[in-house]
Amino acid sequence: MFADTPIESITFNGYPIFVKRDDLLSEEFSGNKARKFAYFLDNDFPGKSGLVGYGSPVANSLYSMSALAKLKGLTLDFYVDHIAEQVLLSTKGNFAAATANGANIIDLSKVADRQELSVIEYIEQKVLPDRNELLFVPEGGRCEYARYGVHKLAQEIVMWAKMQGLHELRVFLPSGTGTTAVFLSEYFVLNTLTIETNIQVYTCACVGGPDYLKQQFCQLIPNANLHPKIVELDKKYHFGKLYKPFYDMHNKLLDSGIEFELLYDPLGWMCVEKLIEHEAELATLYIHQGGLLGNATMLPRYQRKYP
Ligand SMILES: *Cc1c(COP(=O)(O)O)cnc(C)c1O
Repeated sequence: MFADTPIESITFNGYPIFVKRDDLLSEEFSGNKARKFAYFLDNDFPGKSGLVGYGSPVANSLYSMSALAKLKGLTLDFYVDHIAEQVLLSTKGNFAAATANGANIIDLSKVADRQELSVIEYIEQKVLPDRNELLFVPEGGRCEYARYGVHKLAQEIVMWAKMQGLHELRVFLPSGTGTTAVFLSEYFVLNTLTIETNIQVYTCACVGGPDYLKQQFCQLIPNANLHPKIVELDKKYHFGKLYKPFYDMHNKLLDSGIEFELLYDPLGWMCVEKLIEHEAELATLYIHQGGLLGNATMLPRYQRKYP
């Protein structure tokens, strides 16, 4: 479905860092969600007429699922806990774009039969039973299906590293659910005997802490030998909050020629900074996982806070 994405080099803190431009993977998707949903794009699901998803109303995964549904001619029912007023009013960003794609976004704070159910319980109890025409996709594509597309990404990296003649490579990507990082790492470890480059995956926990991320890895792949290494910083940053160092990092990267998003990437690059402080000579590849659509709502917030 997708062509291989290019790998470029930028200068970061005086060192060359390679960047895998998965943000250029597809116009319709936000980067890594296209990798995670590739299985759904490349396969047909006979008898299914609609997708069911859930998560944050401002998430890349909502927008990407709406794009997937549209491409496959499926409906999308996306369940959220509640929708903030400013999200409903915004004309840009993931929520607005998903709505434009025809997504049906259901605010469970407004339904009569919710009782005390969580979003996932509501879907399991009230939505899915006896509805075989619906295909359920866990939050952020955190499921086995994601392996297919992420292993394709791994193969592209292996081929590139071989062409570069690299003996050793450090791959970094920031994690939300950790799905992309753990499947990537799994591929490199399981295929070490045939891969000519020694590749180690590093990541960081943007949502929740490192323990939460390890749990997420284990749910998908119990064998910890296959997990990526988690980089930790001294200070704790909360997901979705605004931090001056994040904004500074974003602008520094912009100066080096590539725009990144503002939820995951600033923390990601701060971890890369730490990694190269410890070991500068090792070739490093950063995976740009897209998500730029979200900058339409994040950048104005930053500009207001730090004019
Ligand atoms: C979804 C997303 C992530 C997190 O991916 P996981 O597989 O959930 O860890 C990281 N960066 C961007 C830009 C994303 O959209």
